[in-house]
Amino acid sequence: MKVDELTGTSSNIREIVNDASARDVLALAHHCGAKDWIPATSGNFSVRIDSRRAAITASGGDKAKLAADGIIIADIDGPAHARASAEAPLHLALYRLSPEIGAVAHVHSMAATLASLQFQNAGHVRLAGLELLKAFRGTTTYETALDVPIFDNTQDMDSLAVVVEKRLKKGPLGFGFLLAGHGLYAWGRDAADTLRHLDAFDYLFTLVLKLKGIPV
Ligand SMILES: [Zn+2]
Repeated sequence: MKVDELTGTSSNIREIVNDASARDVLALAHHCGAKDWIPATSGNFSVRIDSRRAAITASGGDKAKLAADGIIIADIDGPAHARASAEAPLHLALYRLSPEIGAVAHVHSMAATLASLQFQNAGHVRLAGLELLKAFRGTTTYETALDVPIFDNTQDMDSLAVVVEKRLKKGPLGFGFLLAGHGLYAWGRDAADTLRHLDAFDYLFTLVLKLKGIPV
């Protein structure tokens, strides 16, 4: 497996990325590609390497067919990588927000994008009283509610990252947020967690849309 070599400095970084982080980024990208959640080269995926770095998909390309040379290493606090996508700042903001976040996925799935528009005026999608809420880490009962925030979309992802970071610092971080008319960001402790959360979000968004009579 070959990875981007702009990275660095630490002698074991390539090995770490080859053996674990890149494999997890590939797993996320291929799963979401198979689900048809990342049409037309959209979407991006990342996995934390350590407190300072994350392996993340480079800009462009069909992530459903992602190979290791489409993965770069980004400094969580540093300047943007030359091959970073415009949406990388949102990934890195999440890693800064919580050391518990080990992987982040961004998808343009139909259910997420529809839900982001349908519930935009409310500012969130309320998922309540549903068995599959137990798919989210630490949730042990369906007798609960999860409000998934919806932020306005913008072309300026750096400033959006600042807005998201400020808002999420104010309350429970949850497991994801929506960008209106755009898609979903979801995260977890690791790639497996994040995959499970993505699947749960898709099911639950589809369910609340269908309850409103909206075909998905
Ligand atoms: Zn996007």
